[in-house]
Amino acid sequence: MNAPLPQKVIHPGQQRNELSERLAREVQGDVLFGLGDRGRYATDASIYQVDPIGVLIPKTFDDIRAAASICADLHAPFVARGGGTSQCGQTVGPALVLDNSKYLNRIIDFDRESMTVTVEPGIVLDHLNAWLRPHGVWFPVDVSTSAQCTLGGMAGNNSCGSRSIQYGNMVHNVLSIDALLADGTEGRFGPLSTMPTDGSRMAAIVRRLQEVAAREHDEIARTVPKVLRRVGGYNLDIFNPQSERPYTPDNSPNLAHLLVGSEGTLAITRQLTLQLAPLPTHRMLGVVNFPTFYQAMDMAQHIVKLGPVAVELVDRTMIDLARNNPAFGPTIEQALVGEPQAILLVEFAGAAQDQQATRLRQLVELMSDLGLPNSVVKIPEPAAQQALWSVRKAGLNIMMSMRGDGKPVSFIEDCAVPLEHLAEYTSRLTEVFHKHGTSGTWYAHASVGTLHVRPILDMRTDGATKMRAIAEEASAMVREYKGAFSGEHGDGLARSEWVSWQFGPRLTEAFEDIKDLFDPQGLMNPGKIVRSPKMDDTSLFRFKPTYRVLPIEPALNWSAWNVTGHATTQTTSAPGTGDDPAHGFAKAIEMCNNNGHCRKFDAGTMCPSYRVTQDEQHLTRGRANTLRLAISGQLGPEAFSSDEVRQTLDLCVSCKGCKRECPTGVDMAKMKIEFLYQWQKQHGLRFKDKLIATMPRWAPWAARLPWLFNLRDTLPGAAWLSERWLGLSARRSLPRWRADTFLGTVHSDHAEDADVVLFADTFNNYLESENARAALSVLEAAGYKVHIARADSQDSQKERPLCCGRTYLSAGLVDEAKTEALRVVQALRPFIARGVPIVGLEPSCLLSLRDEFLVMGLGEDARSLARQSFLFEEFLAREHVAGTLHLSLKPLPQKKALLHGHCHQKAFDAVKPVQTVLQLIPELNVSLIESSCCGMAGSFGYEASHYAVSMQMAELSLLPAVRKAEADTLLVADGTSCRHQIADGTGRQAEHVARVLARALV
Ligand SMILES: Cc1cc2nc3c(=O)[nH]c(=O)nc-3n(C[C@H](O)[C@H](O)[C@H](O)COP(=O)(O)OP(=O)(O)OC[C@H]3O[C@@H](n4cnc5c(N)ncnc54)[C@H](O)[C@@H]3O)c2cc1C
Ligand code: SF4
Ligand code: SF4
Repeated sequence: MNAPLPQKVIHPGQQRNELSERLAREVQGDVLFGLGDRGRYATDASIYQVDPIGVLIPKTFDDIRAAASICADLHAPFVARGGGTSQCGQTVGPALVLDNSKYLNRIIDFDRESMTVTVEPGIVLDHLNAWLRPHGVWFPVDVSTSAQCTLGGMAGNNSCGSRSIQYGNMVHNVLSIDALLADGTEGRFGPLSTMPTDGSRMAAIVRRLQEVAAREHDEIARTVPKVLRRVGGYNLDIFNPQSERPYTPDNSPNLAHLLVGSEGTLAITRQLTLQLAPLPTHRMLGVVNFPTFYQAMDMAQHIVKLGPVAVELVDRTMIDLARNNPAFGPTIEQALVGEPQAILLVEFAGAAQDQQATRLRQLVELMSDLGLPNSVVKIPEPAAQQALWSVRKAGLNIMMSMRGDGKPVSFIEDCAVPLEHLAEYTSRLTEVFHKHGTSGTWYAHASVGTLHVRPILDMRTDGATKMRAIAEEASAMVREYKGAFSGEHGDGLARSEWVSWQFGPRLTEAFEDIKDLFDPQGLMNPGKIVRSPKMDDTSLFRFKPTYRVLPIEPALNWSAWNVTGHATTQTTSAPGTGDDPAHGFAKAIEMCNNNGHCRKFDAGTMCPSYRVTQDEQHLTRGRANTLRLAISGQLGPEAFSSDEVRQTLDLCVSCKGCKRECPTGVDMAKMKIEFLYQWQKQHGLRFKDKLIATMPRWAPWAARLPWLFNLRDTLPGAAWLSERWLGLSARRSLPRWRADTFLGTVHSDHAEDADVVLFADTFNNYLESENARAALSVLEAAGYKVHIARADSQDSQKERPLCCGRTYLSAGLVDEAKTEALRVVQALRPFIARGVPIVGLEPSCLLSLRDEFLVMGLGEDARSLARQSFLFEEFLAREHVAGTLHLSLKPLPQKKALLHGHCHQKAFDAVKPVQTVLQLIPELNVSLIESSCCGMAGSFGYEASHYAVSMQMAELSLLPAVRKAEADTLLVADGTSCRHQIADGTGRQAEHVARVLARALV
């Protein structure tokens, strides 16, 4: 092995100031050197964590040029980064991190004729493909993280998609890369015939590469695995091709392919030109159900002969985890025949519909011939196919939702073996896992012999030792089957050590020559691919042996996370038994595995603040990382109640998008409540926050003196003063107080014989009482005897209406919220006992009975209450489905309704019921706005400091959709704040569904 070149690399602690000062002077981008920012960039989706020197978010490529030159001056390493979704620690290191994803994401050039596109490295794959779709083409390297991975990162890792059997990997689809070298040289890497041959540095590099390749010609043939899925080391075989699938049509070398898979160690990509493919017009999906895992593996080799574009495995554990996930359960169910031990998703695609249908028929016949008749579920509809693919894509994330310290760990996750050995390889490796007291879940690319598997290891205890032992046994098998150890996810910190094992000493030395040729100072992402540390160096782990959680007495009950996982049975111990000094709160935070799924912009809610800011700090992942670092003392001893952490949570609108959409169930809204509780215990509350939080207490006064409380919006200058003194934006009107409250004006009652209890929350009682009246009239028209919930006669504040405590929770006043919750439970106890449904109108209020009430230690009655609580529309839809709803409705003058779901409705899958009940109105055509959060989020949008972000959130999709709606379209939104935002942003009035139904009553 070549000795490492003499390097004068700065210690991260030293010269940091100099680097940050020079960057601040010389670049336009964001220079982030604080402890929190560094902490958020210290991890990717791997098990590693290394404090970077600092972070630069370059605005232009000139910033990268300047940064590279400053780093060269200071001998500071640097590493480019996209979405940071690498699984092997590629983006982690003591270096300056250059995050390309925020600004360097443009499409530079598109040529439909030649089907090529040139892009900047920070563009996200799904964004590119959305742009290309109208042109009938796509970039077909469809990795599972397509919603967040960037093309620069994909090229860096030589990424591979589910359909690689048809389209190959990145290396097969990149035509050229324009790149910057560490010494400032810039050039285009493309076909050898186009490379300079003059006296330039680029020409010298090409000549030297050719010499190295010629020297190693035979060694390349001898050691480079001849499989499609091989992404380890450098692609020196461009000069002597070994891949099953040629890199270029005529096997001629393309120098860009040497940079593909080089993990930012040779050059920084400025732009890349990609080969596109026609969008397949017809897809057919067949799901084959197998009684044993072995059969699934064994039969894959026969299935690929039918010419599918993808054959993807989902095993039993994954099936069960998906079934238990609210977002994926219904989708997976429809693909199953009985209780299979594994399923294979087999996709056929192309231009001719008949041909795909024929192939699907052939699949059915083949399975019958192989002894598995009736094992194929045909899925011809694109929407259903899409839904199933998203379950498969989320596979790893679903698996990571296991609670406890043991987690599925990626280090032999993508070994590739020839198909004929797949069944034997998987069963032998499963035995190895058992021998080491663990188990693994298998899934993914059966078509190309790259099955993903992650043994469950506890990296805080014996994980490192087991990791090495398993890796050694797995590697011996891979060698025996002539496979590739690194078949998809790259080398990084986890597998660079194995490069010499895979390619032998000669090629390892050649790789070091290549590294030194491109980057003589060793500044570009050092320690990856060549001259790497050991994979099990625990000082590089996220959970190092020194990792400790600071003791915290949480206000909420986190015991469901405070468990110990059992690695072989994949079960967990009883809640509360997990020895977490933070009683489960820390373990809930640690559920974030950094996969970056929250960086998505597609359908769904998560994460509105990131969608607007594109800052890692304002992302669920960034928040979870900040909390983890704080609760483990890595941001300083007092960090957990610091401004830094508060800032990180400031733009979280508590939409609960992550609760539903984060595959590991990170529930940041709940964590924010806990954090704010801890914060206000130490720092107290600002007057404004107290004022909003205590609204249910002073609301009765506002109802008595509405003219006084409404002065803020009528008296000239009052709004301005409220902005100065209270921080309430002068650009917002406030909700109007009124004397005709619902509870003050409605007296109907059925305490003893009620069929339904109507819970009027603070907002619908005081501010929009017509909604509650409408709900009452609809329920009564449907024949229900309605009891209106009021405080219990024993309640010390029995005159004051009931309240769910939401405003208190938003400020972290958990004790006060608990008092309110107890009043609700006490008042409703007789109805809970009789099983009477409790119906509410405001999603964030009613749904807290099903959510936060369960973690406030309120006992069994609260659990029963949660089971019996329904949103108004959920109750009606349920009755309708049961055939017991007797509601006569007439057509309305308006024939179209446009619906915006409140975030909490989305989080609890409660938007569909609104559609269901609206569709009961004859002739009404209902459509749904695909929107994230409206941006109002309780008091968030009223605050001057949040006004701009709030409006940007609304402008993402909600307000443009409302503006497009015809004037006579009904706008339906159940959330008080959502209606306010729609009115502020468009001047149009949305209504609660109860009012629409009430108008339609016959
Ligand atoms: C749940 C999950 C599923 C996954 N599924 C797949 C899959 O199906 N297929 C697959 O191949 N991978 C998969 N991965 C791994 C990862 O998502 C992909 O490799 C992805 O393409 C990385 O993109 P990124 O933008 O996050 O890159 P990053 O992780 O940010 O970077 C990747 C590498 O590229 C380098 N790089 C980034 N930008 C530049 C640049 N401008 N110039 C030079 N180098 C640069 C980085 O230094 C790093 O070495 C998965 C990961 C997760 C967490
Ligand atoms: S918060 Fe959830 S979605 Fe985001 S990175 Fe963490 S685990 Fe993934
Ligand atoms: S609650 Fe909403 S805003 Fe907060 S982190 Fe989760 S998705 Fe983002």
